[in-house]
Amino acid sequence: MSFFNSIGRSMGRQQRNPRRSPTTPTSAGFDSPGFPPPLPPPAPGAQKPLYLCSPFVEAALVKGSLKTIVSLPKYVDVTEWVAVNIFDFCQNLNLFYGVVAECCTATSCPTMAAGPNLDYTWIDHTRKQVKLPAPTYIDYVMTWLQNLLDDESVFPTKSGHDFSPTFPSTAKHMYRQMLRVFAHIYHAHYRDILHLRSEPHFNSLFAHFLAFGKEWELLDVKDIKGAPNAPVGVGELWEKWRELGILE
Ligand SMILES: [Zn+2]
Repeated sequence: MSFFNSIGRSMGRQQRNPRRSPTTPTSAGFDSPGFPPPLPPPAPGAQKPLYLCSPFVEAALVKGSLKTIVSLPKYVDVTEWVAVNIFDFCQNLNLFYGVVAECCTATSCPTMAAGPNLDYTWIDHTRKQVKLPAPTYIDYVMTWLQNLLDDESVFPTKSGHDFSPTFPSTAKHMYRQMLRVFAHIYHAHYRDILHLRSEPHFNSLFAHFLAFGKEWELLDVKDIKGAPNAPVGVGELWEKWRELGILE
């Protein structure tokens, strides 16, 4: 079933419980006692990224295919299913970024890097592409995501309020920006994730995110893999997990 052809087809949506985070994303960049010291990202091209190496590449909370947890449950409206999953991915990604945020500073991450030759740019109010330090970029993304989640016209929670016909394109746009945050964390902060022994959790979240995005056409392959001269680091991880049958 295509999510993008489904808008307007299903009626009688159940009311979703509002599960809004009481907090808004904040920028990172302060030191806190007891937190491991920041680790610099590996030198470009020096070695294979750790997230592609065994045993880290296979680390997960659950083994096997994610197909069953991304499929539409019986009697659930497809738009509602996509909305509630996007809501959860945003919240979980925000929590994970919060865990590594203190290692992600304008000094350690002066650009929103996601590969040795890839820096994402932000489109400013004059439609100009600008390079921002990663914590600033991610703060903008998280704030933008949270504002959308809190917007009743985008994520309706009240009975009788329906999703806008533009919801699929908004969902895809949200997905693309979340992918960039995942890609930055893998590229620049995977050692921080390992330091906290969170790799099975983080891999599982990202694999779920990829499998869901593939199932509901929220991700473009070009966004996952990047351009030939500027590949996204996690593009290889995506390939590896496909080979392992995790995403099917
Ligand atoms: Zn960073």
